Amino acid sequence: MTSLSGKTALVTGGSRGIGRAIALTLAKAGAQVLVHYSASPKEANAVVAEITQAGGRASAVGADLGTADGPHKLAAAVRSIVGDRLDILVNNAGVSTAATIEDQTIAEFDTMFDVNVRGPYFLVQQLLPILCKGSSVIFTTSLAARSAVGNLSAYAATKGATETLVKHFAAALGPRDIRVNAIAPGVVETDMSKFARTDEGRQFTLGMQALKRVAQPDDITGAVLFLASDDSHWVTGASLAVDGGSKL
Ligand code: NDP
Repeated sequence: MTSLSGKTALVTGGSRGIGRAIALTLAKAGAQVLVHYSASPKEANAVVAEITQAGGRASAVGADLGTADGPHKLAAAVRSIVGDRLDILVNNAGVSTAATIEDQTIAEFDTMFDVNVRGPYFLVQQLLPILCKGSSVIFTTSLAARSAVGNLSAYAATKGATETLVKHFAAALGPRDIRVNAIAPGVVETDMSKFARTDEGRQFTLGMQALKRVAQPDDITGAVLFLASDDSHWVTGASLAVDGGSKL
């Protein structure tokens, strides 16, 4: 198995869903993991307990990434734990609201851009001083960034913006030997994609996928582990579709 022994990692939105599975996977590979949460401290502490009970190292760190100073607070908390060395940053926290163009509210539009785009942008900025040579930054984008699925235009635009950031950050940070990539999941059965738990949602999902089952958070983690590890040392500026062959 790929080893991340001796490495430090921050997973935003590590309290639930895909982020939880990523945190557990990175810890299993040997990384010290900071499990970030916003509204779910109990869930984040449960992830930390699961990691430590299995012999790993983890801490919970809280911050609302939808606020202007959230990334700054989170970066300060991270630095107080890991000091001056962060090897892996997984920008996974995100929010999504489905709405038609007619029904989209400004408040929800802004919240999605605040949490999904501004938060990770400034988190990278604030953590740059401790992102060391050879480190890996991974963004969670979405199938929605490249395909029109559901009533998700505003959410999809946040993920399109993130795909653009990946290219620019990869170009800017490559000379410092920092790699920046994205994973782009399709539908994954989590609280965000509750519709995948209904018959209709399940049929919709299977109808657009080559692989005929609904993805679970653990289906996403192998790609993150690859991008986090030195196995992907020559990969940067890439977005890896992890979507069971959706909308081919
Ligand atoms: P969940 O709703 O299950 O989890 C969302 C996570 O984001 C939680 O850990 C939550 O933390 C955190 N979060 C939400 N709001 C904030 C905030 N204001 N500040 C900080 N953290 C916040 O979603 P998923 O696990 O499904 O999604 C994870 C990522 O994957 C997201 O970026 C999403 O857009 C993306 N994605 C998901 C897909 C899916 O079908 N599920 C498909 C494609 C991409 P807390 O509960 O502690 O507030």
